[in-house]
Amino acid sequence: ESQLNPNYSFENFLEGDSNRLARSAGLAVASKPGGTSFNPLLIFGGVGLGKTHLAHAIGVDIKDKYPEKTVLYISAEKFTQQYIDAVKKNNRNDFIHFYQIIDVLIIDDVQFLSGKTGTQDVFFHIFNHLHQNGKQVILTSDKAPVDMQDIEQRLLSRFKWGLSAELQNPDFETRVSILKNKLYRDGVEMPDDIIEYVAKNIKSNVRELEGAIISLIAQSSFNKKEITIDLAKQIVEKFVKNTKREVSIDYIQKTVSDYFQMDISTLQSKTRKRHIVQARQLAMFFAKKLTKASLASIGSQIGQRDHATVLHACKTVDNLSSTDKQFKKYVDDITKKLSI
Ligand code: ADP
Ligand code: MG
Repeated sequence: ESQLNPNYSFENFLEGDSNRLARSAGLAVASKPGGTSFNPLLIFGGVGLGKTHLAHAIGVDIKDKYPEKTVLYISAEKFTQQYIDAVKKNNRNDFIHFYQIIDVLIIDDVQFLSGKTGTQDVFFHIFNHLHQNGKQVILTSDKAPVDMQDIEQRLLSRFKWGLSAELQNPDFETRVSILKNKLYRDGVEMPDDIIEYVAKNIKSNVRELEGAIISLIAQSSFNKKEITIDLAKQIVEKFVKNTKREVSIDYIQKTVSDYFQMDISTLQSKTRKRHIVQARQLAMFFAKKLTKASLASIGSQIGQRDHATVLHACKTVDNLSSTDKQFKKYVDDITKKLSI
């Protein structure tokens, strides 16, 4: 069993400037597996940019062109788990042998091997064997080899032998074509201005781009609502808010004061009443944690305090959350409210 998903094909992997190199290298590898200098082919890039899809597409295409070849797709996580099980059952040699007779080995998310020296070691041996025998290795990772951490030098140097190709954020036109292609395949019609609105606002993750469209379709069909720009706005907002970490200090003060049922002016006041002091310290703590504002700027926005006061507040919250159960609950509750 190759574990390949036939829906993740080249045909469905739309081309754009952001992926042209990786996609072309993938096609080259698929037409001559093991026979190009792209061995290994390492595809890297951020979350949701198509690494898994492209890795499958190469495998699917190879299976199509060379049905006799054995192609195996596996995540680095599963590979690691299998290896651990094999060691437990004293099957280490069988495990190695199984992988050494594969023609095309695709390992997804190799960053997962970070720090796992035993698995890295066995993979090193499998890799060498495959490479020496002209077999093709395809890897994906969230980082370029130069930026990988806790991977042994000798393995990293192998990763750099072939070609490392990056998947970047797709540009607007590519995002629009990805959405149109998806809608077409799902047999759903949607006005262009809606598609463009979604593509304009969700930029850095194709999975989220598709997710927004899926929610939009679901919303409109379950609630029998027409797909309008307003509905698109509501849905896009949810996606964008979830990915955007930065919240404003005002929003934090409002959230904390609502939580303790007090006014923002009370939270900012000079009073030394314990519960108000604590609310203020929590607001400062979350402002430090969730915004890029300096201590001085946080202090001046939360009741005209100086930076030392903010620093003290952050330490106090840290201490109290590890010693005081009730206080810890405040921190957890507010964290939840702020992340919606
Ligand atoms: P990654 O492995 O990099 O996190 P995936 O391969 O899982 O990303 O891709 C996320 C989603 O985006 C998948 O549904 C995939 O089909 C889709 N996708 C990504 N890039 C493209 C593209 N260029 N064309 C069509 N669909 C794409
Ligand atoms: Mg993936």
